Amino acid sequence: MRLETKLIHAGVEPDPTTGAIMTPIYQTSTYVQKAPGDHKGYEYARTQNPTRDALQSALAAIESGSWGLCFGSGMAATDAVLKLLEPGDEVVAADDMYGGTYRIFTKVFEKYGIRFHFVDMQNPSAVAAVLNARTRLIWTETPTNPMMTITDIAAVAELAKAHKALLCVDNTFASPYLQNPLEWGADLVVHSATKYLGGHSDVVHGCIIGKDAALEERLRFIQNSCGAVPGPQDCFLVLRGLKTLHVRMQRHCENGRTVAEWLRAHPKVGKVYWCGFEDSPGFAVARKQMRDFGGMMSFTLKDDRMEAANRVLSSTRLFSLAESLGGVESLIGHPASMTHASIPREDRIRRGLLDSLIRLSVGLENADDLLADLDRAIG
Ligand SMILES: *Cc1c(COP(=O)(O)O)cnc(C)c1O
Repeated sequence: MRLETKLIHAGVEPDPTTGAIMTPIYQTSTYVQKAPGDHKGYEYARTQNPTRDALQSALAAIESGSWGLCFGSGMAATDAVLKLLEPGDEVVAADDMYGGTYRIFTKVFEKYGIRFHFVDMQNPSAVAAVLNARTRLIWTETPTNPMMTITDIAAVAELAKAHKALLCVDNTFASPYLQNPLEWGADLVVHSATKYLGGHSDVVHGCIIGKDAALEERLRFIQNSCGAVPGPQDCFLVLRGLKTLHVRMQRHCENGRTVAEWLRAHPKVGKVYWCGFEDSPGFAVARKQMRDFGGMMSFTLKDDRMEAANRVLSSTRLFSLAESLGGVESLIGHPASMTHASIPREDRIRRGLLDSLIRLSVGLENADDLLADLDRAIG
């Protein structure tokens, strides 16, 4: 089966009792047993739920994995991966990534004796330079948030294997439609399904997908022991979102290209960060490992003052000023004060994340309407 077919059919079967074509929302906390231990494979809903099972199987299929595990949010999925580590272990992480990931690394897990090295993942030799016998995990996003830099997944996976470390890729920005990190040698993929997978800005959800059976067992143990599981209604919403992922992503990519090229030609716009520009630093790698370039981008204004950015941020009408991304509606955001506020200012600036940087999640509206909205706001 190819991706488009998997998105609609993988993991889901008509309900055996009624024939319902859509997976029922099994809103139950427990399951009745005939005699102690004599049950239908379901005992308690933190451990197993049929709606969650269907979604987990679908996610495994669309990311070319053997298993999937769902969590109550993207951060809960990240938390579960980090719980594979022991005090004294080291992690090499991208120096440009989702602010909440940086926060859980530095504010939650550092205090349990785990050491994080932040490096420029565009450059595999920067990764190699900090690898050592204590490195257990390499963590990256590609494209990164919000600077849209690209990690060569295959090159970093090779380094990870040579050091017996795991490579985990946060694939939220690309979605499985654009890129499947497991096919390039990653060990684990994490998603905030809140974004493109759900796709309708109506659910918070996360997942981990992988191939290795021993890793599955350890992460399933963490999922059940720590209990950050999603409810069945949320699993249903993500399952429903998956069925149109390919159609939505195709339009996100088309509109993304239109908006990125238009911004680049605008006299008041400074730099535009989008991985589909042929002269962007990551283009060759992006073209190798991605099928298209998506609808996420960032840009600065030539007038680099905060007030100029604020004027744009508060005057778009179709682009709503909000955190998050990947929904049908276009969003505009200000990383420095919103998604990346938890990163110290001097660290941000060093990475090019200026106070005036504006991030767009280009949605599925008519592209001309989106351009008119930006034109009015940029002025
Ligand atoms: C939103 C996001 C997360 C966190 O996911 P939640 O579902 O909000 O917990 C992690 N990584 C990336 C790239 C994100 O955009």
